[in-house]
This record gives sequence, C-alpha cells and structure tokens, in this order.
Amino acid sequence: MRILLLGGTTEASRMAALLAGEGLEAVFSYAGRTATPIAQPLPVRMGGFGGAEGLADYLRQEGISHVVDATHPFAAQMSRNAVEACALTGIPLVALERAPWVPGKGDRWTRVGTIAAAAEALPEAEARVFLAIGRMHLEAFAGRPQHHYLLRLVDPPEALPLPRAEVVIARGPFDLDGDLSLMREQETEIVVAKNAGGEGARAKLDAARMLGLPVILIDRPAIPDRPRAETPEAVMGWLGHGADLGV
Ligand code: NAP
Repeated sequence: MRILLLGGTTEASRMAALLAGEGLEAVFSYAGRTATPIAQPLPVRMGGFGGAEGLADYLRQEGISHVVDATHPFAAQMSRNAVEACALTGIPLVALERAPWVPGKGDRWTRVGTIAAAAEALPEAEARVFLAIGRMHLEAFAGRPQHHYLLRLVDPPEALPLPRAEVVIARGPFDLDGDLSLMREQETEIVVAKNAGGEGARAKLDAARMLGLPVILIDRPAIPDRPRAETPEAVMGWLGHGADLGV
C-alpha cells in the first residue's frame, strides 16, 4: 500500500498524523501556495502534477495504490483532476470532506453561488467588510472599491487589487474569542466567507451571529461524485486500518 494524500487543510494534517502513526507508506502533496507550509510527519512533495493526465502519470510512476483527497472543498480543480486520474488508472479514491455549515437560530446568512456573486451581493453604501476568502480571488471585489476590506492571509501579499484593505497575517484554526475581538476592533459590519465546513474556520460565523452581523456565504463548487469520508478516522477504515465507518 502506498498512499497519495492531497493536502492543504487542517484535516489533511490530521490525516497525515494518523497515517504516520500507523506506519503506513504515504506521500503528502501540497500545491505550494504558501511560503511556509506546515511540516508533516510524511514525505512531502510540492506543486501541481500537470492536470489529470499528469496526475495519472504520477500515480503510475510512484506506484500509488490509494488516493486520499483532503484538499479544501473550494479546491475544485484538484478534486476534479483526482476523480479523472483515478478513473484513468483504476486507483481507488476517497475524499476527506467535511460537511458544509448550515445556518442556525440567529444566523443572518445570504447564500450565493460564486465569489463574483458575493461581490455583487455587497451593498452600494460603503461598509467595513471582513473578506475571509483567502488571497486567490480578491480581484472579484475590485469592482466594489468603496468598501473597507479586512483580509486575513497566511502570507503577506505582494500587491492587492483593493484600494482600502487592511491585512492581518494569521493561520487557522481560529477561535471564537479571537474572532469576536478582531471583528469588534475592526468594527466589522459584514462578513464574506466560503462555506468550507469544519471547525477551524467557523468561529467567524459564530462571532457574526453573536454580533448580529450579516454574512454573505459562498456555496461550494460542484465536484463529480466520489466516495466520501467526513473524518480522518473514517478514511483509515476505508484503507482497512481502523473501524469500517461505512465510506
Ligand atoms: P485548485 O484551484 O483546485 O487547484 C489548481 C491547481 O493547483 C490544480 O489543478 C493542481 O495543479 C494544483 N494543486 C491544487 N492542490 C494541490 C495539491 N494538494 N497538491 C498538488 N497540486 C495541487 O486549488 P486551489 O483552490 O488553488 O487550492 C490550492 C491548495 O490550497 C489546495 O491544496 C487546497 O487544499 C488549499 N486550500 C485552498 C483553499 C481555497 O479556498 N481554495 C483554502 C484553504 C486551503 P495541476 O493541475 O498542475 O496538478
């Protein structure tokens, strides 16, 4: 057994710890987006594979027997490529995918289908916006320059497409007290976020509810159907190393 673990999330790091703890042979793959990726207890490779075909070649060359896709739910291209490459090679694939967040009492969410739609959903009048979507798609908000944007990023950005932005450098997981203080200090009026699911990023939504703030929440992109597990423990079961949790 030789596993390829596609990473870049808190859950992927938990998965790596379990695989290493069991002494399983596995390679951890990062896209290479951040300057200081979290160290892993597995051999790490970095950078794209060259599309689905490139990934299929890699799987064959490296003798991979199982693929675990633990990328972020918004990393849709990588996940589509994994589905295609595994179909091409006949290698079994499981996605470690946390359930999406659902609104509870007191939540004031507007759900939108795309990042561009989130930008359109902002009001015309100037507002203080916590734009919690990472750094990759900020240009979608360049057409709404009247707002003051709070950005929370892993690495200091080189240039920003937003004229009025303040950057906080931080890496999750985040907690409620920290997010409440940040949003109070920043006088946040609106939160824009991706429906990532999981625990490490939901504090901002809980803080928004407690502060009575509206949230524009971006729905996940579509990914072809594939076997899914919600926890690293369930993936271990799928690999035959742990309780079979019915993946
Ligand atoms: P994406 O749009 O789905 O991927 C674009 C390309 O980046 C892929 O086609 C692939 O290149 C390469 N790639 C992505 N993830 C990779 C991985 N784990 N290992 C090797 N190559 C990878 O992905 P993205 O949204 O840019 O996200 C990039 C990484 O950041 C992902 O690993 C994801 O888990 C993490 N992340 C993303 C978000 C988010 O909101 N999107 C949030 C937190 C963390 P090739 O086609 O050349 O193979």
